[in-house]
Amino acid sequence: AKRLGRNNYQFFDPDMTSHEERRVTLERRLRHAIEHAALRLAYQPKVSVETGQVTGVEALLRWEDDELGAVRPDEIIPLAEETGLILPIGEWVLRTACRYAQAWREETGQPLAMAVNISAVQLNHRHFVATVKEVLETTGLAPASLELELTESALVLNPDLALETLTELRALGIALSIDDFGTGYSNLAQLRRFPIDRLKIDRAFMSHAVTDRQDAAIVRAVVALARSLDLQVVAEGVENEDQLSLIRQLHSDEYQGYLCSQALSGEALKAFMQEYAKR
Ligand code: C2E
Ligand code: CA
Ligand code: CA
Ligand code: CA
Repeated sequence: AKRLGRNNYQFFDPDMTSHEERRVTLERRLRHAIEHAALRLAYQPKVSVETGQVTGVEALLRWEDDELGAVRPDEIIPLAEETGLILPIGEWVLRTACRYAQAWREETGQPLAMAVNISAVQLNHRHFVATVKEVLETTGLAPASLELELTESALVLNPDLALETLTELRALGIALSIDDFGTGYSNLAQLRRFPIDRLKIDRAFMSHAVTDRQDAAIVRAVVALARSLDLQVVAEGVENEDQLSLIRQLHSDEYQGYLCSQALSGEALKAFMQEYAKR
């Protein structure tokens, strides 16, 4: 048997082994899913706090694997980022979401505002803007119907490149939002230099804001800050009426959450919107 170095003890730790096995299996199955077009998108409505109308949707990755069952994006995305698979996956997500929004427009005569999550790896890739342009041209979607959701960490990784990229995207007419806002509070000042339209308040704050005064204070501070910077505010993870009335008091513009709807398949979203319009 080979002599094991100091760091190889983990090889015999059953937890580490199963963790590593899971990772290897996931990567193998994820490559398989990409090749066999097994990834899907689900669309979660965004709602105007004032009017209750659906203002658009966010595309969210879904994967139901034959071997592994449903795998959550929280597990897929980090692995995809580590392995570089995020580039083909991210491009597929963007193209599929834009194609759906354009088909919606052609079928209904109404635009559908489509928000797409962009990983730091994609944003910091030198062909990103060219890819976005190509996808818009190919699908025919108006840039004004597209919004890109970026994380704070993606911007501060390489702020100069991010600023250049965001400026180009903004010039195309694409809307830009900061996702999971509030989780990287220290970078607040840095955000001012970026041409951002919207902040999305992280679900972690909403889940406790009704009962926890500190979380409520953070939400209040974020909304006030956003107002002073002329940004729109979207509250994530609104699950009940108490949370809705809180964000209404705080003058958040839009919300997303199970109170209105979870993320729906493309077909289910059409049915949902028809029912919703009758309410
Ligand atoms: P996110 O961008 O913050 O998306 C919101 C997540 O919260 C989604 O989880 C959504 O299903 C969930 N959610 C929405 N409303 C509620 C609610 O009222 N209560 C609760 N408990 N949860 C709610 P999901 O789909 O599992 O996605 C998790 C994360 O994975 C996303 O967080 C995003 O960071 C990432 N992700 C998903 N799809 C993509 C993608 O296509 N590209 C990239 N780069 N990341 C993605
Ligand atoms: Ca998001
Ligand atoms: Ca978020
Ligand atoms: Ca999140």
